[in-house]
Amino acid sequence: MNRSEEADRANPLRRAVDALASVLFPAPCRVCGEPLATASRIPVCRACLAGPSRIESPMCPKCGRPFPPLGGGVSDRLCRACALGLYHFDLARSFARYDAEMERILLLLKYEPVTPLAGWLAARLEQVARAEPALGDVDCIVPVPLDRKRLRERGYNQAELIARPLAKRLGKPLATGLLRRLRSRPPKLKLSRRERWDTVRGAFEAEAAGRVDRSRVLLVDDVLTSGATLDACARALRSAGFTAIYAVTVARVLPRWEPAAMSLREPGSG
Ligand SMILES: [Zn+2]
Ligand SMILES: [Zn+2]
Repeated sequence: MNRSEEADRANPLRRAVDALASVLFPAPCRVCGEPLATASRIPVCRACLAGPSRIESPMCPKCGRPFPPLGGGVSDRLCRACALGLYHFDLARSFARYDAEMERILLLLKYEPVTPLAGWLAARLEQVARAEPALGDVDCIVPVPLDRKRLRERGYNQAELIARPLAKRLGKPLATGLLRRLRSRPPKLKLSRRERWDTVRGAFEAEAAGRVDRSRVLLVDDVLTSGATLDACARALRSAGFTAIYAVTVARVLPRWEPAAMSLREPGSG
């Protein structure tokens, strides 16, 4: 072939062949490894995207913690933490349980800035926000920030990757500089419940509320584990003068006794 490789790439026929090849020899799904059946900008197959189990009633009306549907029709009621007034946010909701599929989807986003996948997750969070009118009725969308060191290492904040398209969908401004994280999470894989609360206490700092009209905030994060991070963000925003603090997360970790959490597998174990 006497044409240069560059000219070859610019050739429309060659581009059509590339496009066809991507359909005939698709990349594997980044969650389960099965070949992707359709050409998609999201590197996750339909089965894996449909996998995470959505959180529905019965749940705690404040923090959104689901209750196991133990026959006999359990209704919405405050969970123990909310009955004790543990959280400083007004309302929190999550899209799905943190199960094996959800874990892999979020890990993918944590280690690679896969924007089409973040856009897909934002569409799920828009559904969650629309189902709970207060969540969409805010003045700005605030991703839970990383501290500067962690942000430098990773190059992006996965919560912001999700918050940006969510803000667009809800037609609200994204306010990334509003909340700052002063300390990072210790580099330990598993933290005890006590450690989770201790390490985030006072770890966030918020700009004074005057910069945003009426000061109602929707916090966005990938996972709600103990609620300690969202609580620490809410405390900082509250003391800076914000009046209503809501939160949405993609996933929610549930305690071991709940059936969905019992089947939680380690990444890579199938
Ligand atoms: Zn898959
Ligand atoms: Zn609750």
